[in-house]
Formats: sequence, structure tokens, C-alpha cells
Amino acid sequence: MKKLYELFSKFNISISLWLLNLLIGLLFVSVFNLYFWQEIIAIIKPESITDYQLIGSIILFLILVINLVFNLLTSQKTYKVFYVLVFTISAISFYYIAQYNIIIDKEMVRNVVETNHSEARDLMSFSLLSYLFVFGLIPILLILKTELTDQNIWSQLIIKIKVTVVSVMTIGLIVYLNYPSFASLARTNRHLSHMIVPTNFIFATISYITEQFNKAQLPFSDIAQDAFHLKLSKPNDKNVVILIVGETARADRFSINGYRRETNPRLEKRHVVNFKQTSSCGTSTAVSLPCLFSHLERRSYSHKVGKNSSNLLDFFKQAGIDVQWRDNNTGCKGICGRVDYVDFSNNSDELFCSDGECFDEILLKGLLEQINANPNDQFIVLHQKGSHGPAYYLRYPPDFKKFTPTCQSVQLQKCSSEALNNTYDNTIVYTDYFIDQTMKLLESLPQGTSSSLVYIADHGESLGENNLYLHGTPYLIAPESQTHVPFIYWAPHQTDNKTASLMSCLEKSEDHHLSHDHLFHSMLGLMNVSTSYYKPELDVFSSCHSDHVNSRT
Ligand SMILES: [Zn+2]
Repeated sequence: MKKLYELFSKFNISISLWLLNLLIGLLFVSVFNLYFWQEIIAIIKPESITDYQLIGSIILFLILVINLVFNLLTSQKTYKVFYVLVFTISAISFYYIAQYNIIIDKEMVRNVVETNHSEARDLMSFSLLSYLFVFGLIPILLILKTELTDQNIWSQLIIKIKVTVVSVMTIGLIVYLNYPSFASLARTNRHLSHMIVPTNFIFATISYITEQFNKAQLPFSDIAQDAFHLKLSKPNDKNVVILIVGETARADRFSINGYRRETNPRLEKRHVVNFKQTSSCGTSTAVSLPCLFSHLERRSYSHKVGKNSSNLLDFFKQAGIDVQWRDNNTGCKGICGRVDYVDFSNNSDELFCSDGECFDEILLKGLLEQINANPNDQFIVLHQKGSHGPAYYLRYPPDFKKFTPTCQSVQLQKCSSEALNNTYDNTIVYTDYFIDQTMKLLESLPQGTSSSLVYIADHGESLGENNLYLHGTPYLIAPESQTHVPFIYWAPHQTDNKTASLMSCLEKSEDHHLSHDHLFHSMLGLMNVSTSYYKPELDVFSSCHSDHVNSRT
């Protein structure tokens, strides 16, 4: 071992920077892009010489583009730091692409930046460490042993300019000669560019940083100033709305939506309004959550505007309603910055928490007492951990292991499809129980409190269909399993005439095509808050409230 170390410490590679860049570029094209080539072959299905010529052009194109990026981003002084970062991130990316078939774009970078400790821990595995060793550490050690042959700054600059000019011209020529094929391939397979390692995460990171910089330049826009709250016919009554923001729940896995397995044994016994055709704003928490609470609709939503202006919670606060966000997930993604926030995800409760993780029931801790002690109208958000993967088996207590065998691993491809689906379905059974427990809490509120519950999930999940796992696929190409989400409304004391007529009126919209765009306006409607930002056509309650402030605007 000592001799090996001595040999290694004497071992040096003398090389020019342009050649090193080219060799590393070839390594990336041939090894790190294995899954990109698999996808290319699956799309083109090469049979004729023309098909093979097209694949040859793509290989050459990729070598030139990656080499050009390395040529522009490295210098004599910085190339070692640059490649340490590139190989580390590439090894991690290569692992996740291999494991879950993910796509790396700006939103994936946002998910990584906005994740928390326990979510990151769920994604770790021994297999990841082996990828880091083989595809990260070994190339990094070799690069650290390199010495550049030409240290003259001017000759380096001239080489850099030559490489850039030749690369740009050749790339231009390849694109010109293959334009119709390249254009149709790119247009119909938008995910391809996000599969190319390392340009996928390099460009995505630059795009994310640019967005954050632009956002930081914008002042916060307080658009909630005209929000006001109208008390209804019984001015002494207290109104409490609980909004459960579900996590990674697929609508098609709810038995109340027709799923063949009994995943909603409790909700099936309840009378709920079930909006069966609801689609999400994004395919990840970091996108869906700010969009869900924003007045902007999915098509016009941007983080730059959405996160820099008042959201639904700010409108409620302005109208004098007490707002609280209770979190058992990865935080509120900046939505709850100006309202009361309680993080339960690291709670030390012995009943619901262990190893730094809590089951969702923790979100109800002390809630009944808190609601009763507060005489004001209240809007409470419960942000679930729900069905967040890949560690589905950690999301429910043992009593909810209804479907077996289960997948006790984060390496989902190693589990059978049956085990994976069983485990995911168990998380839905627990969510069903959690929603039911929250309903029981509302039922136990004293007279003089009117209350209701809304449950909506942030996005769905892929469970190995077309070899795709988890979520976060770009919206345009995302499968329905990632965008079709459950959305329900429920109120206690349904024998009350007013509640009964509201429920039966809402049931008429159960099969309407709704989306996250409806939540902002529906919650304003439900809480009787009026503002110029309210759009009755996006409020599912607007035609059902008889004594509604917004029905008169
Ligand atoms: Zn999510």
C-alpha cells in the first residue's frame, strides 16, 4: 500500500490544456452519456446508412460542444478546481440518471438547492458512493496529478481562440448540413439536451443563478393591500379552514378516484367533494408550491414575479385572518416568509418521530388547543411529507403496511414493480388516515366555529412506467402520473342546511377540468376575502355561495 502511494506521488502527467480538455470531452461523450446514447438509439432506431450518418454527426457535435464548453470555462489556474467540481457533480448526475431516469434542468437544480437534510439523506445509498468513487474520485486524482506543458499565458490565449473559432465553425457546419434532422429531433424530444452530461447541469446552474440574480434585483411587490375580509351573517362565528398540501400523491392511486385497491378506506366512508380531474402547476415541490399560492396562472407563472409578490397567505394576513403554516416537508419554498411558520419535520415527539423523521400526524400536535384558544378566523396550512420518494417505506407507521411485500430500499429498480407499487400505495393509505384524523379534529371544534378542509397535492409521481421514477420531469413532456393530482373539499356537520346545499352544489363540478390555478381564487372565496386580484371564474365555490362577498363583486 505504501509502495503504491509512493508510486502514485511520483506519478505525473504532462499535458497541454487543450489536449486535456479534448480527452476529458471524449470521456464524457463515451462514458457519462451512455443513457443519452441509449435514448438516441431508441428514438432514431437506426436501420439505413443515413441513420448511422446522423448518429455520427451527433457524436461529432457533442464532442465539439463539450470541448468548447471546457475550453471556455478552464484556465491554467482554475482547471483543477473546475474539473473537481465537474467530475463530482457528473458522477452524482450519472448515478441518478441511471437509477431514476431523471432529467437535469433548471427546475432540478432548484430542487437540489431547496432540499433539506432528511430529503437528501433519503437519496443516499452505497451505490451512489461507488459511482462517486469510480466516476468522480479516480478521474479527479488523475487530474490533480497533471502538469500543464505550456505555461505561457499568451500562447494559451491564442490556442484558446483557435479552438473556439474552429469549434464554432465546425459546429455551425454540422448543424447546417443536418438541420432538418437536428431540428425535428430537438423539437420532438425536448428532454434530450437535459440528458447530456455535463452541459445539462452547467447550463441549468447558470440559468438558475441568473434567475436568482434577476429576482434579487426586483423589489417585493405588495399587491395584497386592497384585500378585505367580510364577516358573514353570524358575526360572532369563527371560521377555520385547514388546507392540507399533499406531497407526491397521484390522483389515480386514490380509490375514491376509482383505483382498484382500497387506498382510501376512510375517505370512502366520508362524504367529500372530489374534484377528480385536477392538474398540477409543476412536477416538483419547488415549482408547484409557489405557483399554487400565487395569483398567477400556470401559463404565466414565473418565480421572478410569483415569489416576489404577495401570495394567498399575504392576502389573508392583510385581511386580518390569522395564518399559520405547519411543515413536515422541506419548508414552504418562501411562501410563508411573512406569516407564522412552525417546522415539525425535526420534532422530537416520541410517538410520531424517530431518526430525524416524523410521520404526518405530527402536524396535528397541539392544533386543536391552538384553534380553540384563538378567537379569530384562521387559515392553517398542513404541509405533508405524504408520499415523498424514493424512501416510500419510511412514510408510514408499521400499522399502515397494508399491501405487502414492500420495497425497503431507495434503489427502486432493485425492487419488483409489485413491491414498489405496494409501498407507494401504503403511503396513500396513511395519507387517507391523516386526512380523516384532521376531519375528526374539525368535527370536535365547539359550536360557533364553522370549519372546512381542503386537500390538494403538489404533484404526482412516476413509479417505473417507461422506466421513469420519481418526479420533476419537464412539464411539457411529463406523464399524467406526475401532473394529475387529488383535490378534495369537505366540511363537518353536513346535516346543516347551508353545508348540505354547498356540498351538493359543489358536486356538480366534480368532473370539471380544474388545476392549481383554481386554488388561489377558491381559497379567497372560501375565506370571504375580496380583492381586485380575485377571479370568480377560477373559484370553484363562486356559484355555490349564496351569502358570499365575492359573489357580489
Ligand atoms: Zn413535492
